[in-house]
Amino acid sequence: MTVEQAIAALLAMAQAQRLQDSEPVLLDDARQRVLASDLVATLDLPPWPNSAMDGYALNLESWQGEPLVVSQQIFAGVAPKALQPGTCARIFTGAPLPAGANCVEMQENVEVLPDASVRFTRALRVGQNIRPQGQENHAGQVLLAAGKRLGPFELAIAAAQGCTHVHVVRRPRVALLSTGDELAEPGTPLKPGCIYNSNRTLLSHWLSALGCEVIDGGVLPDQPHLTRLKLEQLQQGIDLILTTGGVSAGDADCLGQVLRECGQALFWKLAIKPGKPLTVGYFGSVPVIGLPGNPTSALVTFGLLARAYLLRIQGVEAVTPLSFAVTAGFDWPKAGNRREYLRARLEEGRAVLYPNQSSGVLLGASWADGLVEIAEGCTLQAGDTARFIPFGELF
Ligand code: AMP
Ligand code: MG
Repeated sequence: MTVEQAIAALLAMAQAQRLQDSEPVLLDDARQRVLASDLVATLDLPPWPNSAMDGYALNLESWQGEPLVVSQQIFAGVAPKALQPGTCARIFTGAPLPAGANCVEMQENVEVLPDASVRFTRALRVGQNIRPQGQENHAGQVLLAAGKRLGPFELAIAAAQGCTHVHVVRRPRVALLSTGDELAEPGTPLKPGCIYNSNRTLLSHWLSALGCEVIDGGVLPDQPHLTRLKLEQLQQGIDLILTTGGVSAGDADCLGQVLRECGQALFWKLAIKPGKPLTVGYFGSVPVIGLPGNPTSALVTFGLLARAYLLRIQGVEAVTPLSFAVTAGFDWPKAGNRREYLRARLEEGRAVLYPNQSSGVLLGASWADGLVEIAEGCTLQAGDTARFIPFGELF
């Protein structure tokens, strides 16, 4: 199965698993959550015309060019009186324009005369340096559509409307399991032949960044009956079982085996490198995404496939990460039969590869800015164009 086919299958699965419940969440806690309903403006912004400059407000219709007496000072945060005919008002940035004024001149362009009246030295036009009411938006306008992921910009837009909360889709509840007899948790002694579990940390942070609630399912030994028992225990209140390891073709790889024999495996063996053993299916009624155990295989398949699934069940339409063309700073002489993702850094617009592309090596991900994608059957020479997916897009 190609990467495109696998993404399409996952998104079709996600469509059937779309989360229906929503909840109000404080703006401070709503980062990375997904809007459940349109955010509709209740205010015009700005709510009233205001000054874009520190300067003087006047009415050009009744003015013949003569110096004007200053009849009031208007600071931001006050309600001004109407402009007295034949005068101007001292006004500061963000302060409401007084009724009757139709122009603001910046303070640098006026001359304050000895009697404290103000002479305007430049040509003036109606509307200058005024931010009209509703310049940004009008009340009733949809500011953010349902399905929008909320970051600092979107939350600031909600704050500007006076919202304390936003209405978001409930968090997906993801049971995170690591498999492997060799795994030890950090903080415990490392027995001979064992390694520390890094995938759990990688994925629990990444899941949180995608708005998910992580239910730590711990570590599963490589034993089919225990694997089956564990999956049976995770049937209530879980939206996705996300596992790492145990999906290759080895004797100890029992997760894939249990899924195929006791659940339903929709697909495994993907034309992707790293990440070929990725296995997707259901156990009971709960979707399962079985990531390969090698840290970079888990990283690539989570970022390119599981991420899209988790965003789509929350109602996000735009799940394809932004990518762009870069110049290859390397040769790729041997065409592969799988879509290849290489950890690369951008150096002056050229993609340079981390020297060790082994799927067991995690350091390269931190060194790199993102992934260079090389299509099946393709070779490259330095100077050719390749597609680049920045890691930032995957969070
Ligand atoms: P598997 O997919 O179970 O065959 O594992 C492939 C490789 O990834 C093996 O070298 C495992 O030791 C390693 N591995 C599996 N799970 C983890 C994990 N949670 N953290 C770090 N490495 C892992
Ligand atoms: Mg294993």
